[in-house]
Amino acid sequence: MDIGTRLFRSALLGLAGNRAARALSQKYGLKLGAGRFVAGETMEDALTHAKRLNAAGIKVTLDYLGESISSMEEAKESERAYMALLENIHREGIQGNVSLKPTQFGLALDQEQCGEGIRSVVKEAERYGLFVRLDMEDSPWTDATIALVRKLRAEGCCNVGTVIQAYLYRSELDVHQLSAEGINLRLVKGAYKEPRSVAFDSKRVVDANLRRLIAARLDSRAYTAIATHDEAIIRYTQSYARTRGIPRSVFEFQMLYGIRTPLQLALAKEGYTVRSYVPFGRSWYPYFVRRLAERPANLTFIMRSIFSR
Ligand code: FAD
Repeated sequence: MDIGTRLFRSALLGLAGNRAARALSQKYGLKLGAGRFVAGETMEDALTHAKRLNAAGIKVTLDYLGESISSMEEAKESERAYMALLENIHREGIQGNVSLKPTQFGLALDQEQCGEGIRSVVKEAERYGLFVRLDMEDSPWTDATIALVRKLRAEGCCNVGTVIQAYLYRSELDVHQLSAEGINLRLVKGAYKEPRSVAFDSKRVVDANLRRLIAARLDSRAYTAIATHDEAIIRYTQSYARTRGIPRSVFEFQMLYGIRTPLQLALAKEGYTVRSYVPFGRSWYPYFVRRLAERPANLTFIMRSIFSR
Protein backbone atom coordinates (compact mmCIF):
# COMPACT_ATOMS: atom_id res chain seq x y z
CA MET A 1 0.00 0.00 0.00
CA ASP A 2 1.58 3.36 -0.97
CA ILE A 3 1.89 6.09 1.63
CA GLY A 4 -0.92 8.24 0.11
CA THR A 5 -3.39 5.34 0.15
CA ARG A 6 -2.34 4.42 3.68
CA LEU A 7 -2.93 7.95 4.96
CA PHE A 8 -6.24 8.20 3.12
CA ARG A 9 -7.43 4.90 4.61
CA SER A 10 -6.30 5.83 8.09
CA ALA A 11 -7.99 9.26 7.94
CA LEU A 12 -11.27 7.79 6.73
CA LEU A 13 -11.26 4.98 9.29
CA GLY A 14 -10.68 7.63 11.96
CA LEU A 15 -13.87 9.31 10.78
CA ALA A 16 -15.87 6.08 11.21
CA GLY A 17 -15.93 6.63 14.97
CA ASN A 18 -16.55 10.38 14.81
CA ARG A 19 -19.90 11.24 16.40
CA ALA A 20 -20.27 14.68 14.79
CA ALA A 21 -19.63 13.31 11.31
CA ARG A 22 -22.06 10.47 12.04
CA ALA A 23 -24.80 12.88 13.13
CA LEU A 24 -24.30 15.05 10.05
CA SER A 25 -24.46 12.11 7.66
CA GLN A 26 -27.56 10.71 9.41
CA LYS A 27 -29.36 13.92 8.62
CA TYR A 28 -28.93 13.39 4.91
CA GLY A 29 -30.05 9.77 4.99
CA LEU A 30 -28.76 7.47 2.31
CA LYS A 31 -28.79 10.21 -0.28
CA LEU A 32 -25.05 10.88 -0.11
CA GLY A 33 -24.33 7.67 -1.96
CA ALA A 34 -24.41 5.21 0.91
CA GLY A 35 -27.38 3.58 -0.84
CA ARG A 36 -24.88 1.90 -3.12
CA PHE A 37 -23.66 -0.21 -0.18
CA VAL A 38 -26.67 -0.26 2.17
CA ALA A 39 -29.93 -1.99 1.22
CA GLY A 40 -32.09 0.62 2.93
CA GLU A 41 -33.08 1.91 6.33
CA THR A 42 -35.91 -0.55 6.98
CA MET A 43 -36.22 -4.31 7.30
CA GLU A 44 -38.72 -4.30 4.43
CA ASP A 45 -36.07 -2.71 2.17
CA ALA A 46 -33.59 -5.43 3.10
CA LEU A 47 -36.09 -8.25 2.60
CA THR A 48 -36.99 -6.92 -0.84
CA HIS A 49 -33.32 -6.89 -1.88
CA ALA A 50 -32.80 -10.34 -0.33
CA LYS A 51 -35.62 -11.78 -2.41
CA ARG A 52 -34.20 -10.23 -5.56
CA LEU A 53 -30.77 -11.69 -4.88
CA ASN A 54 -32.29 -15.10 -4.08
CA ALA A 55 -34.15 -15.02 -7.38
CA ALA A 56 -30.79 -14.52 -9.09
CA GLY A 57 -29.33 -17.57 -7.30
CA ILE A 58 -27.50 -15.65 -4.54
CA LYS A 59 -28.01 -16.36 -0.84
CA VAL A 60 -27.85 -13.58 1.71
CA THR A 61 -26.69 -12.78 5.18
CA LEU A 62 -28.68 -9.90 6.63
CA ASP A 63 -27.07 -7.39 8.95
CA TYR A 64 -29.08 -4.94 11.02
CA LEU A 65 -26.57 -2.11 11.22
CA GLY A 66 -25.44 -0.83 14.58
CA GLU A 67 -22.20 -0.98 16.59
CA SER A 68 -20.47 0.66 19.54
CA ILE A 69 -23.73 1.47 21.28
CA SER A 70 -23.84 3.65 24.40
CA SER A 71 -26.57 1.93 26.46
CA MET A 72 -27.88 -1.57 27.04
CA GLU A 73 -31.32 -0.31 25.98
CA GLU A 74 -29.88 0.00 22.46
CA ALA A 75 -28.63 -3.58 22.78
CA LYS A 76 -32.17 -4.72 23.63
CA GLU A 77 -33.43 -2.84 20.61
CA SER A 78 -30.94 -4.74 18.40
CA GLU A 79 -32.02 -8.02 19.96
CA ARG A 80 -35.67 -7.27 19.16
CA ALA A 81 -34.75 -6.31 15.60
CA TYR A 82 -32.85 -9.57 15.07
CA MET A 83 -35.74 -11.61 16.50
CA ALA A 84 -38.10 -9.96 14.01
CA LEU A 85 -35.57 -10.43 11.22
CA LEU A 86 -35.26 -14.18 11.89
CA GLU A 87 -39.01 -14.56 11.89
CA ASN A 88 -39.27 -12.72 8.59
CA ILE A 89 -36.49 -14.75 6.96
CA HIS A 90 -38.31 -17.91 8.02
CA ARG A 91 -41.81 -16.73 7.09
CA GLU A 92 -40.81 -15.36 3.69
CA GLY A 93 -38.72 -18.43 2.85
CA ILE A 94 -35.59 -16.37 2.25
CA GLN A 95 -32.39 -18.29 1.51
CA GLY A 96 -30.35 -16.55 4.11
CA ASN A 97 -28.99 -16.14 7.59
CA VAL A 98 -27.92 -13.24 9.80
CA SER A 99 -24.68 -11.50 10.78
CA LEU A 100 -24.40 -9.35 13.89
CA LYS A 101 -21.78 -7.26 15.60
CA PRO A 102 -21.08 -8.10 19.27
CA THR A 103 -20.60 -4.43 20.22
CA GLN A 104 -24.12 -3.83 18.94
CA PHE A 105 -25.24 -6.19 21.72
CA GLY A 106 -23.17 -4.35 24.32
CA LEU A 107 -19.84 -6.18 24.29
CA ALA A 108 -18.06 -2.97 25.32
CA LEU A 109 -20.57 -2.23 28.10
CA ASP A 110 -21.56 -5.45 29.79
CA GLN A 111 -20.12 -8.70 28.48
CA GLU A 112 -22.50 -10.91 30.42
CA GLN A 113 -25.66 -9.21 29.21
CA CYS A 114 -24.20 -9.04 25.71
CA GLY A 115 -23.70 -12.81 25.80
CA GLU A 116 -27.29 -13.31 26.96
CA GLY A 117 -28.68 -11.16 24.15
CA ILE A 118 -26.66 -12.99 21.51
CA ARG A 119 -27.61 -16.35 23.02
CA SER A 120 -31.32 -15.47 22.67
CA VAL A 121 -30.79 -14.65 19.00
CA VAL A 122 -28.82 -17.84 18.36
CA LYS A 123 -31.48 -19.96 20.13
CA GLU A 124 -34.26 -18.31 18.16
CA ALA A 125 -32.32 -18.90 14.93
CA GLU A 126 -31.85 -22.54 15.89
CA ARG A 127 -35.62 -22.93 16.18
CA TYR A 128 -35.90 -21.88 12.52
CA GLY A 129 -32.84 -23.85 11.35
CA LEU A 130 -30.95 -20.61 10.66
CA PHE A 131 -27.30 -19.67 11.18
CA VAL A 132 -25.89 -16.66 13.05
CA ARG A 133 -22.46 -15.20 12.31
CA LEU A 134 -20.71 -12.93 14.80
CA ASP A 135 -18.87 -10.38 12.66
CA MET A 136 -15.36 -9.56 13.82
CA GLU A 137 -14.75 -5.98 14.87
CA ASP A 138 -11.52 -4.27 15.91
CA SER A 139 -8.84 -6.19 17.81
CA PRO A 140 -9.83 -5.26 21.41
CA TRP A 141 -12.88 -7.51 20.81
CA THR A 142 -11.27 -10.49 19.10
CA ASP A 143 -10.77 -12.63 22.21
CA ALA A 144 -14.22 -11.88 23.63
CA THR A 145 -15.93 -12.60 20.30
CA ILE A 146 -14.20 -15.95 19.88
CA ALA A 147 -14.94 -16.79 23.53
CA LEU A 148 -18.64 -16.05 22.98
CA VAL A 149 -18.78 -18.43 20.03
CA ARG A 150 -16.96 -21.15 21.95
CA LYS A 151 -19.33 -20.75 24.89
CA LEU A 152 -22.39 -21.06 22.69
CA ARG A 153 -20.95 -24.11 20.97
CA ALA A 154 -20.17 -25.67 24.36
CA GLU A 155 -23.85 -25.15 25.22
CA GLY A 156 -24.76 -27.18 22.13
CA CYS A 157 -25.50 -24.40 19.61
CA CYS A 158 -24.01 -25.54 16.30
CA ASN A 159 -25.61 -22.72 14.29
CA VAL A 160 -23.08 -20.07 15.23
CA GLY A 161 -19.72 -19.04 13.82
CA THR A 162 -17.46 -16.03 13.48
CA VAL A 163 -14.90 -14.28 11.32
CA ILE A 164 -11.11 -14.31 11.16
CA GLN A 165 -9.19 -11.35 9.73
CA ALA A 166 -6.04 -12.10 7.71
CA TYR A 167 -4.40 -8.82 8.73
CA LEU A 168 -3.98 -9.93 12.36
CA TYR A 169 -0.74 -11.70 13.30
CA ARG A 170 -2.69 -14.03 15.60
CA SER A 171 -5.04 -15.35 12.89
CA GLU A 172 -3.01 -18.33 11.73
CA LEU A 173 -3.10 -19.78 15.23
CA ASP A 174 -6.81 -18.91 15.65
CA VAL A 175 -7.66 -20.64 12.38
CA HIS A 176 -5.69 -23.70 13.40
CA GLN A 177 -7.48 -23.98 16.76
CA LEU A 178 -10.97 -23.07 15.55
CA SER A 179 -10.70 -25.52 12.64
CA ALA A 180 -9.83 -28.32 15.05
CA GLU A 181 -13.02 -27.40 16.94
CA GLY A 182 -15.02 -27.52 13.68
CA ILE A 183 -16.20 -23.91 14.02
CA ASN A 184 -17.73 -22.32 10.92
CA LEU A 185 -15.59 -19.34 9.89
CA ARG A 186 -15.71 -16.48 7.45
CA LEU A 187 -12.24 -15.42 6.29
CA VAL A 188 -11.68 -11.77 5.40
CA LYS A 189 -8.72 -9.42 4.95
CA GLY A 190 -9.88 -7.08 7.77
CA ALA A 191 -11.55 -3.68 7.67
CA TYR A 192 -10.55 -1.75 10.81
CA LYS A 193 -7.78 0.64 11.74
CA GLU A 194 -5.25 -1.50 13.62
CA PRO A 195 -1.83 -0.71 15.08
CA ARG A 196 1.30 -2.39 13.77
CA SER A 197 1.67 -4.14 17.10
CA VAL A 198 -1.22 -6.46 16.15
CA ALA A 199 -1.66 -6.32 12.37
CA PHE A 200 0.29 -6.45 9.10
CA ASP A 201 -0.07 -3.22 7.19
CA SER A 202 1.23 -4.40 3.83
CA LYS A 203 -1.49 -5.42 1.39
CA ARG A 204 0.85 -7.96 -0.18
CA VAL A 205 1.46 -9.66 3.17
CA VAL A 206 -2.24 -9.63 4.12
CA ASP A 207 -3.16 -11.18 0.76
CA ALA A 208 -0.54 -13.88 1.20
CA ASN A 209 -1.78 -14.59 4.72
CA LEU A 210 -5.38 -14.85 3.50
CA ARG A 211 -4.29 -17.46 0.96
CA ARG A 212 -2.55 -19.43 3.71
CA LEU A 213 -5.65 -19.29 5.90
CA ILE A 214 -7.89 -20.37 3.02
CA ALA A 215 -5.64 -23.36 2.30
CA ALA A 216 -5.63 -24.38 5.97
CA ARG A 217 -9.41 -24.14 6.22
CA LEU A 218 -10.08 -26.01 2.99
CA ASP A 219 -7.72 -28.77 4.10
CA SER A 220 -9.59 -29.01 7.41
CA ARG A 221 -12.96 -29.36 5.58
CA ALA A 222 -14.60 -27.23 8.28
CA TYR A 223 -17.22 -25.06 6.58
CA THR A 224 -15.70 -21.78 5.42
CA ALA A 225 -16.97 -18.59 3.83
CA ILE A 226 -14.30 -16.95 1.66
CA ALA A 227 -15.37 -13.30 1.86
CA THR A 228 -13.51 -11.20 -0.68
CA HIS A 229 -13.98 -9.29 -3.92
CA ASP A 230 -10.40 -10.04 -4.90
CA GLU A 231 -10.59 -12.09 -8.09
CA ALA A 232 -7.04 -13.42 -7.73
CA ILE A 233 -7.94 -14.87 -4.33
CA ILE A 234 -11.21 -16.28 -5.62
CA ARG A 235 -9.32 -17.99 -8.46
CA TYR A 236 -6.75 -19.27 -5.98
CA THR A 237 -9.55 -20.81 -3.86
CA GLN A 238 -11.15 -22.46 -6.88
CA SER A 239 -7.89 -23.91 -8.08
CA TYR A 240 -6.79 -25.06 -4.60
CA ALA A 241 -10.11 -26.84 -4.07
CA ARG A 242 -9.98 -28.41 -7.52
CA THR A 243 -6.45 -29.78 -7.23
CA ARG A 244 -7.00 -31.12 -3.72
CA GLY A 245 -10.40 -32.64 -4.49
CA ILE A 246 -12.13 -30.45 -1.90
CA PRO A 247 -15.89 -30.49 -2.49
CA ARG A 248 -17.74 -27.22 -3.12
CA SER A 249 -20.10 -28.19 -0.33
CA VAL A 250 -17.53 -27.19 2.34
CA PHE A 251 -17.09 -23.59 1.29
CA GLU A 252 -18.91 -20.60 -0.14
CA PHE A 253 -17.98 -17.22 -1.52
CA GLN A 254 -19.29 -14.09 0.15
CA MET A 255 -19.29 -10.51 -1.08
CA LEU A 256 -20.82 -7.29 0.10
CA TYR A 257 -24.11 -5.96 -1.21
CA GLY A 258 -23.49 -3.57 -4.09
CA ILE A 259 -19.89 -4.60 -4.73
CA ARG A 260 -18.90 -6.69 -7.76
CA THR A 261 -22.44 -7.90 -8.38
CA PRO A 262 -21.60 -9.30 -11.86
CA LEU A 263 -18.87 -11.44 -10.27
CA GLN A 264 -21.33 -12.67 -7.63
CA LEU A 265 -23.76 -13.66 -10.37
CA ALA A 266 -21.09 -15.33 -12.50
CA LEU A 267 -19.87 -17.49 -9.59
CA ALA A 268 -23.43 -18.49 -8.72
CA LYS A 269 -23.98 -19.45 -12.35
CA GLU A 270 -20.87 -21.64 -12.23
CA GLY A 271 -22.53 -23.54 -9.38
CA TYR A 272 -20.67 -22.09 -6.39
CA THR A 273 -22.60 -21.08 -3.30
CA VAL A 274 -22.50 -17.28 -3.21
CA ARG A 275 -23.80 -15.17 -0.37
CA SER A 276 -24.26 -11.44 -0.40
CA TYR A 277 -23.88 -9.54 2.87
CA VAL A 278 -26.91 -7.24 2.97
CA PRO A 279 -26.76 -4.46 5.58
CA PHE A 280 -29.73 -2.29 6.46
CA GLY A 281 -30.85 0.14 9.14
CA ARG A 282 -30.41 3.74 10.14
CA SER A 283 -26.96 3.32 11.72
CA TRP A 284 -25.20 2.91 8.39
CA TYR A 285 -22.51 5.55 8.81
CA PRO A 286 -19.48 3.57 10.18
CA TYR A 287 -20.20 0.71 7.75
CA PHE A 288 -20.30 3.17 4.86
CA VAL A 289 -17.02 4.84 5.88
CA ARG A 290 -15.24 1.46 6.00
CA ARG A 291 -16.42 0.79 2.42
CA LEU A 292 -15.03 4.17 1.33
CA ALA A 293 -11.70 3.47 3.03
CA GLU A 294 -11.34 0.17 1.17
CA ARG A 295 -11.26 1.85 -2.19
CA PRO A 296 -10.28 5.48 -2.83
CA ALA A 297 -12.27 5.42 -6.09
CA ASN A 298 -15.46 5.09 -4.03
CA LEU A 299 -14.99 8.61 -2.75
CA THR A 300 -14.86 9.94 -6.32
CA PHE A 301 -18.07 8.06 -7.03
CA ILE A 302 -19.75 9.62 -3.98
CA MET A 303 -18.52 13.15 -4.81
CA ARG A 304 -19.84 12.76 -8.34
CA SER A 305 -23.24 11.64 -7.08
CA ILE A 306 -23.44 14.66 -4.73
CA PHE A 307 -22.43 17.25 -7.30
CA SER A 308 -24.59 15.85 -10.08
CA ARG A 309 -27.75 16.59 -8.05
P1 FAD B 1 -9.37 -5.77 -1.66
O1 FAD B 1 -7.97 -6.07 -2.08
O2 FAD B 1 -9.61 -4.66 -0.70
O3 FAD B 1 -10.26 -5.51 -2.91
C1 FAD B 1 -10.20 -6.32 -4.10
C2 FAD B 1 -11.05 -5.63 -5.15
O4 FAD B 1 -12.43 -5.68 -4.77
C3 FAD B 1 -10.75 -4.14 -5.32
O5 FAD B 1 -9.72 -3.94 -6.24
C4 FAD B 1 -12.09 -3.61 -5.80
O6 FAD B 1 -12.24 -3.84 -7.15
C5 FAD B 1 -13.08 -4.46 -5.05
N1 FAD B 1 -13.48 -3.80 -3.78
C6 FAD B 1 -13.06 -4.11 -2.54
N2 FAD B 1 -13.66 -3.32 -1.63
C7 FAD B 1 -14.45 -2.48 -2.31
C8 FAD B 1 -15.31 -1.43 -1.95
N3 FAD B 1 -15.49 -1.08 -0.68
N4 FAD B 1 -15.98 -0.77 -2.92
C9 FAD B 1 -15.83 -1.13 -4.22
N5 FAD B 1 -15.01 -2.12 -4.63
C10 FAD B 1 -14.34 -2.80 -3.70
N6 FAD B 1 -14.11 -7.18 7.75
C11 FAD B 1 -13.95 -7.29 9.09
O7 FAD B 1 -12.98 -6.74 9.64
N7 FAD B 1 -14.85 -8.01 9.84
C12 FAD B 1 -15.90 -8.66 9.29
O8 FAD B 1 -16.68 -9.30 10.01
C13 FAD B 1 -16.09 -8.56 7.88
N8 FAD B 1 -17.11 -9.17 7.25
C14 FAD B 1 -17.17 -9.15 5.89
C15 FAD B 1 -18.17 -9.89 5.23
C16 FAD B 1 -18.16 -9.98 3.85
C17 FAD B 1 -19.22 -10.79 3.17
C18 FAD B 1 -17.15 -9.31 3.09
C19 FAD B 1 -17.09 -9.43 1.60
C20 FAD B 1 -16.22 -8.54 3.72
C21 FAD B 1 -16.22 -8.44 5.11
N9 FAD B 1 -15.27 -7.67 5.77
C22 FAD B 1 -15.15 -7.77 7.13
C23 FAD B 1 -14.47 -6.67 5.02
C24 FAD B 1 -13.11 -7.20 4.61
O9 FAD B 1 -12.28 -7.32 5.75
C25 FAD B 1 -12.42 -6.25 3.61
O10 FAD B 1 -12.23 -5.00 4.20
C26 FAD B 1 -13.21 -6.05 2.31
O11 FAD B 1 -13.80 -7.24 1.90
C27 FAD B 1 -12.27 -5.55 1.19
O12 FAD B 1 -11.27 -6.48 0.95
P2 FAD B 1 -11.27 -7.50 -0.30
O13 FAD B 1 -11.00 -8.86 0.24
O14 FAD B 1 -12.47 -7.37 -1.11
O15 FAD B 1 -9.94 -7.14 -1.09
